[in-house]
Amino acid sequence: MTLFHNILVKTLPLVPKPIVKFVSKRYVAGATIDAAVDTVIKLNKEGATATLDLLGESATNKEDCDAAVKEYLLILETIESNNLDCNISLKPTQLGLQIDKELCYQNIHKIVERADALNNFVRIDMEDSPYTSSTIEIFIRLKKEFQNVGIVLQAYMRRSLHDLNELVKFKSNFRLCKGIYDEARTIAFKDPIIINHNFSLLIEKALRADCYVGIATHDEKIVWEGLKFIDSFHLDRSQYEFQMLLGVDEELKKIILNAGHKLRIYVPYGEKWYAYSMRRLKENPKVAVYIIKAFFGIK
Ligand SMILES: Cc1cc2nc3c(=O)[nH]c(=O)nc-3n(C[C@H](O)[C@H](O)[C@H](O)COP(=O)(O)OP(=O)(O)OC[C@H]3O[C@@H](n4cnc5c(N)ncnc54)[C@H](O)[C@@H]3O)c2cc1C
Repeated sequence: MTLFHNILVKTLPLVPKPIVKFVSKRYVAGATIDAAVDTVIKLNKEGATATLDLLGESATNKEDCDAAVKEYLLILETIESNNLDCNISLKPTQLGLQIDKELCYQNIHKIVERADALNNFVRIDMEDSPYTSSTIEIFIRLKKEFQNVGIVLQAYMRRSLHDLNELVKFKSNFRLCKGIYDEARTIAFKDPIIINHNFSLLIEKALRADCYVGIATHDEKIVWEGLKFIDSFHLDRSQYEFQMLLGVDEELKKIILNAGHKLRIYVPYGEKWYAYSMRRLKENPKVAVYIIKAFFGIK
C-alpha cells in the first residue's frame, strides 16, 4: 500500500456519503431485492453462480433481527420462484449475535430450515474476532441437524488452522478467504506472504479431508494455489468452487469461467450499503481515481 493510498484510506470517512454511494455502485447490486435478482440473472447468463447477501450487521435490537430473518426468507422464496442459480450468505451480528447467542442461533436456524426445504444452501460469513468462537459454535450446532450450511475461515487468523482441524471432523463446507477486518497482530498474521501460505495450507487440508471448498479470492497467486490442488487431487466441479465479490475483477472472473471452473459471485444488496462499501473501497488500489472522478462528475 502506498503512502498516498494509506492517507486516503484514513480520510475515507470524510468523503461525503453521496460520493461513496456513487463510487460503490460497482460493489452493491442495489437497494432492493428486484435489483439483486436482476444482477443474479445477469451473472447466471454469464455462467456464474451467486450468493445473495442482505447488507447489514451489528443489530442492537430484536426488531431489526426479525426484519432480517423475514427478508432472508423472502430471498429464499425469490430464488426459488425465479429459478436462480444462487444461495445465500448471512452475517451472525445482523441476526442477533451481539444481543444474545441463542437468539442468533434460533434466527439462523429458521433460515437454514427453510433453505433446506427449498433445497438451497446457507453460508455463515465470518465477522471480526470477538465473534469467531460463537459463530463456529452456532455453525456446529446447525451442522448436527442440517447438511445445507457452511462456514467461513479467514487465512489471516492465527487460530484458523486449529479451527479447520476441528471443523473437518464435521465434513464442513468451507469458504476460505484472507479476512477483511482490522485485527491485532497477537491474533492475526500481518505479513501478506504468511497469510498466503496459510491460505494455501487451509485449502490443502480441507480438500485432503474431503470437504467442499469455496476459494474466495481475487489474488491470482491464491487462485493458482487452488488450481494446483484441483489438479493434483483430480477434483471435479462437485468438490470445489472459486468465489469473488461483485465488481472487483471482471477479467479474473472471465478467466476462471472460461477455464471451466465453477465461480460464485457474492452479491450484496440493501439499504445498509455504507459499512460494506467502505470496506471494499479501502481495499481498492484505484479508490483515489474513482473518488476524484466522482467529485468532478467524470465517467
Ligand atoms: C466471495 C467472498 C466472500 C468473502 N467473505 C468474507 C467473510 O466472510 N469474512 C471476511 O473477513 N472476509 C470475507 N471476504 C473478503 C476477503 O477476506 C478479502 O478481504 C478480500 O477478498 C480481498 O482479499 P483477496 O484474497 O482478494 O486478496 P488481496 O491481496 O487483498 O487482493 C487481490 C487483488 O485484488 C484486488 N482487490 C481486492 N479487493 C479489491 C476491491 N475491493 N476493489 C478492487 N480491487 C480489489 C487487490 O488490489 C489485488 O490486486 C470475502 C471475499 C470474497 C471474495
